[in-house]
Amino acid sequence: MRSTNPGFVPDSPFVRPLPPEWEAFFCVFPKAELHCHLLGTISRETFSDLVKLAGSPVTEDDISAFYTRGEKPVGVLRIFRALEESILTKPEFLTRITVEHMERVAAQGVRYIEFFWNWTGLARHMSFEAAQSAVAQGLREGQMRFGVIGRSVPAIDREASPEDAVRLVEEMCAHRVPETVGLGIDYRETGHEPENFWKAYRMARKAGFHVTAHAGEFGEHWRNVETAMTLLECRRIDHGYTITDNPALAARARAQGIIFSVVPTNSYYLRTLSDDEWALRHPIRAMARAGLRMFPNSDDPAMHHVSVSESWKLMFNWLGFSLGDLRQCLLSAIDAAWIDDETKARWGVEWTDEFDRLAKALPPLQQN
Ligand SMILES: [Zn+2]
Repeated sequence: MRSTNPGFVPDSPFVRPLPPEWEAFFCVFPKAELHCHLLGTISRETFSDLVKLAGSPVTEDDISAFYTRGEKPVGVLRIFRALEESILTKPEFLTRITVEHMERVAAQGVRYIEFFWNWTGLARHMSFEAAQSAVAQGLREGQMRFGVIGRSVPAIDREASPEDAVRLVEEMCAHRVPETVGLGIDYRETGHEPENFWKAYRMARKAGFHVTAHAGEFGEHWRNVETAMTLLECRRIDHGYTITDNPALAARARAQGIIFSVVPTNSYYLRTLSDDEWALRHPIRAMARAGLRMFPNSDDPAMHHVSVSESWKLMFNWLGFSLGDLRQCLLSAIDAAWIDDETKARWGVEWTDEFDRLAKALPPLQQN
């Protein structure tokens, strides 16, 4: 356990290097990635290319600024707005970025991935049906070429109106495809409380979609987590950190088997905790102490300068999780995945067998 954060400099992996066998282990063991925003996966090169293809006014300097993650990183939402406004103007761009990320994660042991993507901000360029079918095409292509199973999760843009959210769910119901399995909600939580979107969530649940919600991010009050659990009836919560401010709610979440998709590189805590405190005071530790089920995710990997396997590694070499704890995270990720029970049971056995076999072959780590 270390008390000094490694310095979050752009284009530099900020996880402490491990011996090569351990590095390989984190890349190889099977994983599920359930908290990943499609727009947050775009590489710097593809971003530039799409700007040109779309004839967007976004400049190279803008792009450089987007991909700079300083010591106190700002959020990525402004980048997403630029993408929606003038870059992701054609459905084929969505297919391209989906396939590209599936190729990347296939090399990091990811066997199953769910992508959040928003339609509300793209509606000026394309219909929901066109956007969804482009993402679904990317998922099918990714599975065929790289062997990763991918699913689509349209997400409510909470900075837009609750009526826009209802419209999104209406579109999901009118244009069902097997790849789309559930509903999420993202963009800025501050001032955009989850209860505003109860109707869209109720419609989605009634139509048989799974639901999850970003809540308790950006230091927002634990009542947002409570709202996601109760009013929105989410069994899975994205982030959820401020639940640790309310032990009774945490106990309820534990009893109900709520699973949290956490993000070690979340900007808010990098910004608000000092370098010396970050690893020790990150709420992920308190969530673990409270006995909550969780698993790590990359969220916006291209802009966070992190990969899926590095997110898992961060849990190990900065946030105090043991290999045994990571094995539990793996089972939680499988349980939280929106797949059928038979597949869950099979993956639970197969993936942990593989994890155990790989872990057993690791050389002992030197304590320092
Ligand atoms: Zn997120």
